[in-house]
Amino acid sequence: MMPAVKKLIILSGPSGVGKGTVCKLLRARMPWLVHPVSLTTRAMREGEQDGREYFFVTREAFIAKRDAGELLESVEYNGALYGTPRAQIDAALAAGQTMLLEIDAEGALALKQLFADDAFLIFLAPPSLEVLLERLKTRGQNCETDIAGRLARAQWEMAQQAKFDAVVTNDLLERSVPAVAALIEAAACQTGQAKA
Ligand code: 5GP
Repeated sequence: MMPAVKKLIILSGPSGVGKGTVCKLLRARMPWLVHPVSLTTRAMREGEQDGREYFFVTREAFIAKRDAGELLESVEYNGALYGTPRAQIDAALAAGQTMLLEIDAEGALALKQLFADDAFLIFLAPPSLEVLLERLKTRGQNCETDIAGRLARAQWEMAQQAKFDAVVTNDLLERSVPAVAALIEAAACQTGQAKA
């Protein structure tokens, strides 16, 4: 039997593990991957752009969209709301495109419930919690309470690893990026720059 082709590739893992960097490198390497943009109520960071990293919205606007059924999943993460817009995912699936989503473990597992046949979940793990804490501190965008919240959440996320289809440790980008790329190519049945 042919393995099912996965259209919804979800990269998850605790805040500070390096998901953003790994995703950026993966997208450069595999330009056929579609990048759905999530909604968030958190403040925009320096260098971010509305509609690129996220759609930055007010809590009221977020809740209105969630209540109208426009989000496939949503989570409260460290005092802010994050959610995956239904329309972007539906459109990409209808077009037969392969997506790469970078979301937290709770959202990843919720999407796995909704799209059991289409979803492939990859967990990016830090070499250790100590390394993760160092990375959160040196990232410099987070205050002490924010770091504490993210670390507490990280411990819960680490406990979800076994529910994922694959786990990759983000020790060295030179190793982790090709490892994740190989998993995506196998799951999506695509290779290199080619689009099926
Ligand atoms: P950050 O504030 O660092 O950009 O993101 C915080 C966490 O929210 C990260 O783990 C990120 O992957 C996750 N996240 C981003 N967008 C979504 C989303 O649409 N849904 C869920 N569940 N998590 C998200």
